[in-house]
Amino acid sequence: MPETAQEVLQLIQEKGIQLVDLKFIDMPGIWQHLTLHVSQIDENSFVEGVPFDGSSIRGWKAINESDMTMVPDPTTAWIDPFMKEPTLSMICTIYEPRTNTPYERCPRAIAQKAVDCLKASGIGDTAYFGPEAEFFIFDDVRFDQAENKSYYYVDSIEGRWNSGREEEGGNLGYKPRYKEGYFPVAPTDTSQDMRSEMLLTMADCGVPIEKHHHEVATGGQCELGFRFGKLIEAADWLMTYKYVIKNVGRRYGKTITFMPKLLFNDNGSGMHTHQSIWNDGQPLFAGDQYAGLSQMALWYIGGILKHAPALLALTNPTTNSYKRLVPGFEAPVNLAYSQGNRSASVRIPLSGTNPKAKRLEFRCPDATSNPYLAFAAMLCAGIDGIKNQIDLGEPLDVDIYDLSPEELAKIPSTPGSLKDALKALEADHDFLTVGGVFTEDFIQNWIEYKLDNEVIPISLRPHPYEFALYYDC
Ligand code: GLN
Ligand code: MG
Ligand code: MG
Ligand code: MG
Repeated sequence: MPETAQEVLQLIQEKGIQLVDLKFIDMPGIWQHLTLHVSQIDENSFVEGVPFDGSSIRGWKAINESDMTMVPDPTTAWIDPFMKEPTLSMICTIYEPRTNTPYERCPRAIAQKAVDCLKASGIGDTAYFGPEAEFFIFDDVRFDQAENKSYYYVDSIEGRWNSGREEEGGNLGYKPRYKEGYFPVAPTDTSQDMRSEMLLTMADCGVPIEKHHHEVATGGQCELGFRFGKLIEAADWLMTYKYVIKNVGRRYGKTITFMPKLLFNDNGSGMHTHQSIWNDGQPLFAGDQYAGLSQMALWYIGGILKHAPALLALTNPTTNSYKRLVPGFEAPVNLAYSQGNRSASVRIPLSGTNPKAKRLEFRCPDATSNPYLAFAAMLCAGIDGIKNQIDLGEPLDVDIYDLSPEELAKIPSTPGSLKDALKALEADHDFLTVGGVFTEDFIQNWIEYKLDNEVIPISLRPHPYEFALYYDC
């Protein structure tokens, strides 16, 4: 993989590249792109960037101040496996052309500020992130108001028992039952070849691949794994992961979704995020405290748990996110930490004796989050925990789902809705702005965007399940 602009230009020559596809992330977390003929790319493109109109991008500039530039990062270059003509892909950061400074609402620029903030704090020089984004593979998507078991149904490649769909060649059985998708072999597992192709294609795009498997939910829920990476690198890989998975799925005539709660009464899709801080090549989270963690790691967890209600407005930023965070589906509902306990929102995985593997897993996030914003926000919360030596109390080494209501009442819960999380963010965001990582403008714009475009429109529409409940009133 190239490292410098020179090396990218050399690669373009060597491989006979005709087109360069520049990708960047918008505020809600979707990749946007612009394709240039190679004649339009030279060394200066990596300095001054490539101009585009920022006024049509969700949550960004007004029409009267719309000129912006995208500056490609040469270390993110790979040949795009989904394009017919030889095309080099690169990931960009957005700049203000007048000042040639990173745009304060560009998520990748915010992520860079979080990395700088960690270095400036003297705590460590590198934050590593390892996201595990789960997803569903479906044959097609339908929204059916009449179906009252769940408020819509989606036919999966595994043929859901209740879908009513005629299967090609007849019903040959071997359907995983609810919550039993993890993880019988073929023919029950019908997406093996597709997942293998997804994994190997990701490697061609520079992602350090590790594994793939079916997940717990019955209807074609899957997960692929890649190695942890530095904050921005890991967010870049996560975006490549989603791009490859969706596009390989399309080749198979399937549709893929990362929506957190698809199927009523079955597991949702999370994006557990593993995290650790290092300095000078040495891991700082291994020590002789609880679960083999260092005091620094415990304070970091303290910061995550203290700020979790506000943090979730960025790590779980959709109205659907909160339908996943309910008891009984391996998704965390209480703000607690524990070694090995998957019902706590922070888990310390058993990692053997290697101090380099010592990390924490925050289980709340889902893949509707913008990974640059989510990782930056989690790092800010952790830094705040370390700086203020936030004491996180006792671990919760029991299955939280089995606790009595009295015991449960003592443990703080995750917010019940996006609206609640946004309220928490409004009340608690100094930990995000104090190091200049997020600006006050960004936070206020985020809250307003989410309320106006998601929370309020959803609340104004009659829900299909309301028909089942109230139509006969
Ligand atoms: N799908 C579960 C969640 O929503 C996690 C299942 C797992 O990876 N063990 O978080
Ligand atoms: Mg996993
Ligand atoms: Mg999983
Ligand atoms: Mg996990």
